[in-house]
Amino acid sequence: MGFSEFLGNERIVQALRTMLRREHVPNALLFVGPRGIGKFTLARMFAQAANCERLRPPRHAGDDFCGECDTCRKIARLAEPAALIEQGLAERGESPDAAAVERMPLILETHPDVWAIVPDPVRRRNPVARPMIRMGQLRAVQRAAYFRPEARRRVFIMDGAETMRWSDADVFLKILEEPPETATLILLAPRADALLPTIRSRCLTFWFAPMATEQIEGLLKGRAEWKAAERKLAAQLADGSPGAALGLDLAESGRLRREVLRLVGDAMEGKSYRAIFAATTRLAKEESESFENVLGLFYSLLADLLVLSHNPKNYAPRNPDLRRELEGLAGKVTDTWVSRATDSLDRLEGRLRRNVGRQLGLDAVAESLRVR
Ligand SMILES: [Zn+2]
Repeated sequence: MGFSEFLGNERIVQALRTMLRREHVPNALLFVGPRGIGKFTLARMFAQAANCERLRPPRHAGDDFCGECDTCRKIARLAEPAALIEQGLAERGESPDAAAVERMPLILETHPDVWAIVPDPVRRRNPVARPMIRMGQLRAVQRAAYFRPEARRRVFIMDGAETMRWSDADVFLKILEEPPETATLILLAPRADALLPTIRSRCLTFWFAPMATEQIEGLLKGRAEWKAAERKLAAQLADGSPGAALGLDLAESGRLRREVLRLVGDAMEGKSYRAIFAATTRLAKEESESFENVLGLFYSLLADLLVLSHNPKNYAPRNPDLRRELEGLAGKVTDTWVSRATDSLDRLEGRLRRNVGRQLGLDAVAESLRVR
């Protein structure tokens, strides 16, 4: 057990280990990269190494962890956050009001020094309320950051840091401005520009590079229930994220991508609004994937359409299983159409931050997909 178990991004691992070894750890780190690339895993491993009972100075360099001591084991439980989130929500009650959400912030704590903060799914009457980091969670971190650690370092892993309201970020900035010596905050986000510049500039940023498709395919060998062709497809769809590949439900992914592509095709052909709106309504309420990921599917299908419309030969589409359908549509695609469609997707992504309705946003995207 230890950092050697981490796959890919060796240079980031080395940089973190050097900091630990030199006992020169910044108070705020920002891990940037797509979901499933390993940001959360590496942050958790960092917390273990910073607090491991066995591999600690002076006898050890203090830049790795054993995975077996009591501290390592407790922190390791963060690797399965779903159950911890369920537990937190259950303790709060199923339909809390807004005040209760702030009063009982969702904190995942399996060791007193290491907290994981994740976007609060809330689960109020509105089933499509966007999960986000709440003010209550930020305030709890603000208080706890100044407690003396029981082990050596308090580590706060903030997943989905980009979901924090910009107006709430002041509280957070205070921690970053007067950071306690013994605490490190690790912010995780898919893109750096999704965070306030004032927050970004106070963090040491690491950019996680995607893993090679072949490397991911090798990793999937462990999934004996998948045929070789399925492993290959999963590795391609994962777009460089080992976690995305391992967690992929191929049948479900195929269904959803087909549905998005059908909407794209129907919109291009100028089908009736009734048909289009039925599809956007379904997608806006999609539960198997986050809405951000559904938008990601639009981008990936548009990217395929763009290349197939120019240079279909020798192109390996991002959605190889939909190649025939994509080729059928590619003939109608022009560069203007693609740029109009991506513009409207970009706008919708930007509006999600302000919690503007998904349904209306998707309708606007569908409208932009019409071939004029
Ligand atoms: Zn240990």
